[in-house]
Parts: sequence; C-alpha cells; structure tokens
Amino acid sequence: MERILIIDDSAVQARFLKSILDQDYDVTAINTAEEGLEQAKNGAYSLILLDVIMPGMDGFELLKRLQEEVLLQRTPVILITSLSDIEHEEQGLTLGAVDYITKPFHPVIVRARVNTHIKLYQYRTQIEREATVDQLTGVPNRRRYDAVSGKRWQDAIRLGVPFSICMFDIDKFKVYNDTFGHPAGDKVISAVAGAASSMLRRGTDFFARYGGEEFVALILGGDAKSDFEHMQRVRQAVEDLHIPHNPEVFQWVSISIGGITVRPKLGDVYSNYLKMADTMLYDAKRFGRNQVVWTSDKMEQWREK
Ligand code: GH3
Ligand code: MG
Ligand code: MG
Repeated sequence: MERILIIDDSAVQARFLKSILDQDYDVTAINTAEEGLEQAKNGAYSLILLDVIMPGMDGFELLKRLQEEVLLQRTPVILITSLSDIEHEEQGLTLGAVDYITKPFHPVIVRARVNTHIKLYQYRTQIEREATVDQLTGVPNRRRYDAVSGKRWQDAIRLGVPFSICMFDIDKFKVYNDTFGHPAGDKVISAVAGAASSMLRRGTDFFARYGGEEFVALILGGDAKSDFEHMQRVRQAVEDLHIPHNPEVFQWVSISIGGITVRPKLGDVYSNYLKMADTMLYDAKRFGRNQVVWTSDKMEQWREK
C-alpha cells in the first residue's frame, strides 16, 4: 500500500483528511512542521499533503526544506490551505508543489487528485527503475554505472580512502552459447550476477552489468589485499554454482576477475585506472582463466594461481 504523509497543525483537519484516504492508503498524520520534516526524512512516502498555515515553520518554508533534501526532491507535495487567492497558489506551485487543494475540501475531489498524483508517482518510479536496472539480471545497468562511478571516485578523493575497481568476465562464454544456446546463456549471466551481487551488499560496494557477459564492481574504503581476497571468494562462489560448461573447455562455468586498488588524489582520472583493471582482467584470461589478478598503486601485484 502506498504511504501518504499529512502535515497539518489542526488535528481535526488532519484526522478528517486521513479518514478520506485511509481506505486506499497507509496514511500518517503529523501536527507540526518540524516533526513532519523528520517523519518525511525517515519514511518512504509516495505523497505529502502539506498545510500552508502553521505556527513556526509554515508550509511554504517546509516545502523549501523538503526540496533541499535530495531524497525528498522526488516526493510529490500537495499544498492544502484555506487561502484561495491566486498569489499563494502561484507561490506554492513555483516552489515545486504538484497541486493545490483549498479548504473546505470535498472528499471526492481530494481522493481523485491524490489518486492521480499517486499514479504519476508510481509511473515515474517504474520508468526510473527501468532506466537504471538491467532487465535480465536485476542488477544496476551500464547507465547507472556511468552515473555512479564518477560520484564514487570523487567520494574516495574527498574522503582520502582506497578505491577498488574490479572487472569480471565469464570464461569461454561464446563456446557456452554455441553449445547450449543463447537462452541458456542468458540464464548463466543471471546466475553469475546473482552470486556476485549477493557478495557485494555493503553500502560502500557497487555492482553493475557492464555489458554482455561482463560486470564491474566498485569498492570504497577497503584495502588492496582484502579486496583481492574478497574477489577470490566471489570467483569461487561462481565456480561453486556448478553450472556445467562445454567439457571440451571447462567442467564448470567460471569467471575471470581483474582489479586495481588505488587511493585517488585530486586530478586523478578514473578511466585510466579502469583501463588498468581491464589489463589485469586480460592477464587473468591469459594466465588460464577462472582466477583473479590484482594490482595496486603501490605497484604490488597478486595472482591467484
Ligand atoms: P573469454 O574467456 O576470453 O572471455 O572468451 P569469451 O568467449 O567469453 O569471449 P568473447 O568476448 O569472445 O565472447 C563473449 C560472448 O558473450 C559472445 C556473446 O555471444 C556472448 N554474450 C554477450 N552478451 C550476451 C547476452 O546478453 N546473452 C547471451 N546469452 N550471450 C551473450
Ligand atoms: Mg567479454
Ligand atoms: Mg568472456
């Protein structure tokens, strides 16, 4: 059930509004702007109904504060007020409210408008999800990776912490497709993504489908040796899925991983290090596949086998 937040200093009004919407939505009513702001930050709401005239922080001020919070910028806000004059309505809409309802309300109208904005919100959420998630595997897609990688790189520079880039590639996958067919190959790509992403779940990890049968992982704040060791466990987990390969090449489906750990400084260019991770992946293939090859900005190098 979609969640709606009502912020109105009049408990009576808030209750009445809640009663109009209670049947179809999970509604929370709050009576002060300050508490409302906190509640909005903590709960995932699909819509906020906001009273304009409140003591202390008024609805316009609160709306500005909501717009400043990155997470809340997406949440639609409908302003509620008895002010029916044009300037206030204009001010509210200019500040980013999606709609404006004037008191006294007509339950049918309130419900209709709320339904419309909830539908729009659901639609937009779905579109955004589809634009950033890979359909086959359910992990973030290349577009999402392009957006995230630069930001994470800047975070590492700002925080002065190590940053690891890992490239994954399924071994002899062309042979797999040729042997078992493309649909079976798709299932393998999904299984590999599932196994790898389940081991990269920390908030500081990011895992995406880079393209085709290739994946990329970014790890913030680890260190070269432990990230290398973690990637060995990921590689092992894929082998342990025991998906039969064409026995002429390998017994089980496996992946090769190339990675690099750096402590990036201002002016360091991400793509240069991505290239080095790719070179490590190339080495892992050259050395026989199903293994991890790693390097660091201290010129250390590790090979698994
Ligand atoms: P290597 O061990 O050197 O990586 O050999 P490889 O055969 O995996 O390498 P190559 O890059 O030559 O082949 C990758 C294959 O992956 C070719 C392509 O048919 C297959 N592939 C890419 N994307 C998909 C996909 O979405 N689904 C399926 N089933 N196959 C894909
Ligand atoms: Mg490839
Ligand atoms: Mg491959």
